[in-house]
Amino acid sequence: MALRTRILIIVLMLLNSCVKEEKPLVTSKDELVNYLDTLEQRYEAACVQMGLANWNSYSKEAPYDLDAAKSKFAEIFLDTAARHMIEEWRAKSNSLADQLLARRLELWHRCFIGCAIYADSDIARLENNLQQRITNFKFTYQGSPTTRAKISDMLKEEKKQPKRHKLWSVTSQLSAIVASDLFKLVKLRNEKARTFGFPNYYSLSLHLNAIDEEWLLNTLNTLEEQTRGAFEESITSMKKKLHLNIFGPWDFDFALRQAASLPDRYFPRDSVFHVLHAFQQGIGFKVDSLPIKEVIKDIPYGGLSLAIKIPTDSRFLVNPTKGKGFYAVAFHEYGHSLKAVHIDVDYPILKGYEWIPGAQCAGYEEGVADLHAEFTDDSLWLKTFTKLKSKQIEQYIQSRGLSTLYRLRRLLKDFFIEYEMYKNPDQDVAELERMMYKKYLRVELDENEPHQFAASIWYTSYPCYYQNYILAVMIATQLQEALTNKFDDEKISTPNVASWMIKHLYASGEIEEWDERIRNATGKSLDTGPYLRKLGIESSPFLTEE
Ligand SMILES: [Zn+2]
Repeated sequence: MALRTRILIIVLMLLNSCVKEEKPLVTSKDELVNYLDTLEQRYEAACVQMGLANWNSYSKEAPYDLDAAKSKFAEIFLDTAARHMIEEWRAKSNSLADQLLARRLELWHRCFIGCAIYADSDIARLENNLQQRITNFKFTYQGSPTTRAKISDMLKEEKKQPKRHKLWSVTSQLSAIVASDLFKLVKLRNEKARTFGFPNYYSLSLHLNAIDEEWLLNTLNTLEEQTRGAFEESITSMKKKLHLNIFGPWDFDFALRQAASLPDRYFPRDSVFHVLHAFQQGIGFKVDSLPIKEVIKDIPYGGLSLAIKIPTDSRFLVNPTKGKGFYAVAFHEYGHSLKAVHIDVDYPILKGYEWIPGAQCAGYEEGVADLHAEFTDDSLWLKTFTKLKSKQIEQYIQSRGLSTLYRLRRLLKDFFIEYEMYKNPDQDVAELERMMYKKYLRVELDENEPHQFAASIWYTSYPCYYQNYILAVMIATQLQEALTNKFDDEKISTPNVASWMIKHLYASGEIEEWDERIRNATGKSLDTGPYLRKLGIESSPFLTEE
């Protein structure tokens, strides 16, 4: 899954030189429209410049200047007079009787908050410093230097449980030395969030993504309850298989090492774009004439898709890995690009550019991209587009549940540690981490076990992001179910699929809220049912409460 590079960290350094404070004169609705039109032209120019700088930083096709691109955003978003004016109009947007205008004001409101946070120089300084220390940290194992990648490989292979435990604990070396700075960062972010009237930074982040906090918690709790039984059963059976008395967090990778996978040779690397194009053409996308550029290149992500100018210029890079995973990434990135080139909206702030937090919902973006990756996990698709035998596909579909279940429960653990940490950064987070291991991964940790949470780069560099991965798979599976209901087996072959996607998921950009788009497409709000069904768990209304 591609991660959008978080960019706007250093904008404030440019602040002193370029903030304009004179109050813009906007006294009527017409003037407001004119004002926003002009502002949005500047905004789109900044988006394009930022997109190109980012593209070149990864593709190395041309020189790039990320700072210059950032300064363009600073000029727009650090203008407090403009911000106040927009807030005033937003407060009375009901009286404007103009839904589109109200929506533009709403998105501008979010982006002003988003940019202020990401441009805060104190936060940026601490974040960059911590990121460097995490990235450059030298781990040791039994006195010799090692890396996270090596540890993770060894964990899968190590047959002796006490050694697995030791390997697993290596991460705590880093956590011990950065935890105090992580708390500082969390508190700084919270402070900033409170100046915008939010109880903490997590709540603010969810607001910028238009995710209802109470709904999210209910949803995640439902997923936890509904998968608990199956997960516990799988731990019991793994324990038995490995002849273990106690199952620890260090045992998962080893136990799951032979988890369901399909042989790489059925997904030849050289054919990826051929298969991708043939399939997308079959479901109705005009592949040959779309302004999508594809490049295979070694980058630090699986893939990366950038909407340079919406809807006329989208580009993506994929890392040449192998097997089904490579296909899934290519399909995912192509999904991002398909959306970008089919957005049919005149107003740049409603096009869903990714650069300023608040301009889109990251979970939705990942979800509609994953909708495409999800095809490569569909039995009918596998049967049609690969040379796999039916039996192989059947076995795969039956046994893939376990690793998916583990991934989900691990995401839940990671989400709740962070969520609770922002709610109360003064609590004993090491204790919190142990509780979350127990609740979500059903494993006990001794209170002398050193903590690991602060070693995660996610909490530093991609804060408040974990729910997006869970929402993305929920969205992808719910949309796949809707496709099956509507097109049945033809969902992988009828040209009507493209027009359905364009109409329901792409064209309107940010004119409607993301959850509204899901409702229009699938006939119901986003819920846990389709994802649980994919996991082989039927959601039951008769579940007993704990
Ligand atoms: Zn993505």
